[in-house]
Amino acid sequence: MLSKRAVQSQGLAGKVAVVTGSTKGIGLAIARRLAQDGAHVVVSSRRQQNVDQAVAALQGEGLSVTGTVCHVGKAEDRERLVATALEHSGGVDFLVCVAGVNPLVGSTLGASEQIWDKVLGVNVKAPALLLSRLLPHMENRGGGSVVLVSSMVAYLPVPKLGVYNTSKTALLGLCKSLAMELAPKGIRVNCIAPGVIKTDFSKVLDTAKVITPALLSFFRPGEAEECSGIVSFLCSSDACYITGENIVVAGYSPKL
Ligand code: NAP
Repeated sequence: MLSKRAVQSQGLAGKVAVVTGSTKGIGLAIARRLAQDGAHVVVSSRRQQNVDQAVAALQGEGLSVTGTVCHVGKAEDRERLVATALEHSGGVDFLVCVAGVNPLVGSTLGASEQIWDKVLGVNVKAPALLLSRLLPHMENRGGGSVVLVSSMVAYLPVPKLGVYNTSKTALLGLCKSLAMELAPKGIRVNCIAPGVIKTDFSKVLDTAKVITPALLSFFRPGEAEECSGIVSFLCSSDACYITGENIVVAGYSPKL
């Protein structure tokens, strides 16, 4: 059965999108939306079972998707993701970096070196390293669009999440640098900064009492789908003159 939106909009037809961390939550919603808008989407995450389930669900909706296991922090997995993406039509147009981790609720200066390495490795280094492998294949297509998934905590740090907050702020800097570096190649790089989105990831923070009633009095919790339309727009030709931008998707923006 072809989904309703697939009939309405095919603005990304003929394009290939790679989405990391896309077997549930925000990543799955983005993968679904890009496929509904006509792209072939390569979904991925660390667990084969999750990849199989997501691919089956999206294919069951009549969407064009394939999938592979990719822990973004592992070089061999990133290579496999690139190879899988090239299988569809020999190139890649979009990269959406959703995979992110937060292994620590606690003080910033109490974090071990291992925690720092894990958070910065997965959240900040991995998007750059994956893009470096995909870049020649995007250039062959004459350009492309990259969307990084930061967080509202980049602008408004949440207590007890110092290492994670720092990694998400670093992504804003990565976005700015890459946008400037890659503009001459016709590759745009933008960033979204979601607020509190109802997923398993935020459930853990809720349980740890990191998401306080005071925070929620400003920001209503959002649905994963509410982060997906903006990513499709940033990938589309309607956003052809937008690069280096960070867009808060949180029900309210603390940005000036
Ligand atoms: P989620 O529902 O827990 O989903 C996380 C997804 O990423 C899963 O598909 C998971 O599958 C995969 N994943 C986890 N670690 C990975 C890794 N190292 N490599 C590849 N895939 C990995 O989380 P979410 O809420 O959608 O969060 C997604 C992103 O949004 C994160 O970067 C997070 O920082 C950001 N964000 C979330 C919120 C929020 O309130 N939810 C707010 C702002 C920003 P496997 O277990 O199979 O790997």
